[in-house]
Amino acid sequence: MGQLSLENITKEFGDDNETIVAVDDLDIDIADGEFLILVGPSGCGKSTTLRCIAGLEQPTSGDIVLDGTPVTERKPKDRNMAMVFQNYALYPHMTARENMAFGLRMTTDLSNDEIDDRVMEAATLMGIEDLLEKKPGEMSGGQQQRVALGRAIVRDPEVFLMDEPLSNLDAKLRTTMRTELQDLQQDLDVTTIYVTHDQTEAMTMGDRIAILNDGELQQIGTPEECYSEPENKFVAGFIGSPSMNFFDVSLSDGRFVTDDFSVSLSESVRNELAGIDSEFVMGIRPEEILSGEDAVGHEGAFEVDVNVVEPLGDITYIYTEINGTEATISVDRNTDLEAGDRLTVAFPESEIHVFDRTAGDALI
Ligand code: ATP
Repeated sequence: MGQLSLENITKEFGDDNETIVAVDDLDIDIADGEFLILVGPSGCGKSTTLRCIAGLEQPTSGDIVLDGTPVTERKPKDRNMAMVFQNYALYPHMTARENMAFGLRMTTDLSNDEIDDRVMEAATLMGIEDLLEKKPGEMSGGQQQRVALGRAIVRDPEVFLMDEPLSNLDAKLRTTMRTELQDLQQDLDVTTIYVTHDQTEAMTMGDRIAILNDGELQQIGTPEECYSEPENKFVAGFIGSPSMNFFDVSLSDGRFVTDDFSVSLSESVRNELAGIDSEFVMGIRPEEILSGEDAVGHEGAFEVDVNVVEPLGDITYIYTEINGTEATISVDRNTDLEAGDRLTVAFPESEIHVFDRTAGDALI
């Protein structure tokens, strides 16, 4: 079992003069075997949360509960959790085999033979049998991270805690390891909390994503939910790459209106917004904007200046300015658009998101 609950975890640093609230009243239930991604901008409290779960930091208040038992007061080694760090954190003077066996020797009374068997099993799973007699200095970054993962697996923990484990690897290796880690997590079926700031890892690896900002939980849900139904403007802008475009709009005669464009709203949207005494921000993702022939003749179509064309191989991004705000539009990779061209665009009403301009909450 590995059902983990964070119950109102708050972690403050500092003294009476200055206090930093790194984690602010975090309340999350993680199911046994779940793969949860913790994501958010630098300094939002991801690592501190993970370190509180591991027991490397003591929360200022709140409880970490594993399978119904509070473990907040337990030492890290007594929590049955294994942590994998970004910088591998292997002992440099030990071989891979010794690194993997070390934790078991310290925390269990397994015999040498049993430890050897467990190390071999984990080494086979990670495909690192050939590395067992090597020391970290004789291995590549990717190999060291495999050993670090092997060291976590060997302990057969109830929870894996991973702090940006792939971010020191080059892009290609990161892609391979991403899929491998996902497969491994599914095979082992061990509850995993995985910290990252990488969009692709967040969107593809986990069962659910928890998005943090300033220590506070902004939303928790499947990647699809967070992408298509962001609960606030922060999540809308953070999830998805390139980011959602935002425009300040006014509501007038059933339309969102700006100096540059207007969007006719359906009756249901009008009804939802009726009576809301607020200023609005309209959001639309670059990939949801119609352009070129798809936009011509569409309700509310208008023209923009193409400022920059960025071909990325499988897709091309157009950068422009709409209503005084920089905007990104995804277009077909075969486009022959150039900087200086004019492009017809349209915002399909069904794809727009609406937020309260002050609070940032999603309104539809
Ligand atoms: P990053 O993605 O940059 O690693 P993060 O989301 O993991 O960031 P944390 O490392 O958890 O963020 O830090 C959250 C906040 O707590 C930051 O403002 C950080 O400066 C502060 N903080 C973290 N550890 C300490 C500490 N030991 N003492 C004082 N402040 C700390």
